[in-house]
Amino acid sequence: MIDVKDLNKSFEGHQVLKGINEHIEKGEKVVIVGPSGSGKSTFLRCLNLLEVPTSGEIWFEGKEITKAKTKEVNALRQKMGMVFQHFNLFPHLTIVDNITLAPVKLKKMTKSDAVANAMALLKRVGLEDKAKAYPNQLSGGQKQRIAIVRALAMNPDVMLFDEPTSALDPEMVGEVLELMSQLARDGMTMVVVTHEMGFAREVASRVMFMDDGKIVEQNRPEEFFSNPQNDRLKEFLSKVL
Ligand code: ADP
Ligand code: MG
Repeated sequence: MIDVKDLNKSFEGHQVLKGINEHIEKGEKVVIVGPSGSGKSTFLRCLNLLEVPTSGEIWFEGKEITKAKTKEVNALRQKMGMVFQHFNLFPHLTIVDNITLAPVKLKKMTKSDAVANAMALLKRVGLEDKAKAYPNQLSGGQKQRIAIVRALAMNPDVMLFDEPTSALDPEMVGEVLELMSQLARDGMTMVVVTHEMGFAREVASRVMFMDDGKIVEQNRPEEFFSNPQNDRLKEFLSKVL
């Protein structure tokens, strides 16, 4: 589904991604861990071209998106849902309008179809009573679940999560991870940057360790956590586990 070939990204001469080669299959749940500043967010943002790579290629569903024209890029990006640490809901729009905005504008769905779809999704996550509320009337956990629903409303083929629980109070982390686990069980292809090692252990099909702009080790979760090879990974795990 996603192929990354010799991906490099620099910001003003500072090289942040250093020649990443990766392949992500449909249905995989890839969890990326690593120290702050190692390039995890930049890597995720390059996958859907929120950041333009300095060099290298990204292929998505058989197309090289790094070569695609703007219009094609927009169409491909619609197939990649993205969830951020800080929710990024539109504060002046109700929950249902947050969810229906992109399907109506970008997918040319009728408003009534988009609302019906939004309500079905809200019901699935137990938040249908919040349809008419505004984001600031919701808890952090609810906001993040709405952000996930908003991404799902575009019917994406892959979901990218960048530390979706890092801004939440501890008691709200569980409800967001539970929704993500449910998505995983439903077969969604997922790439998740997180510090939640329990989630990585239980949900990931593959865990990657990113350090200094490179993916230096990756494995199935059992091996990754029980038998790390790289010294930096050993040190990292000794701090977070
Ligand atoms: P992580 O998500 O692993 O914490 P990031 O991908 O956010 O790491 O950042 C990696 C490095 O790239 C950091 O040194 C950060 O300061 C730098 N960086 C990220 N985004 C930008 C940007 N837009 N402009 C300049 N430097 C950036
Ligand atoms: Mg980050």
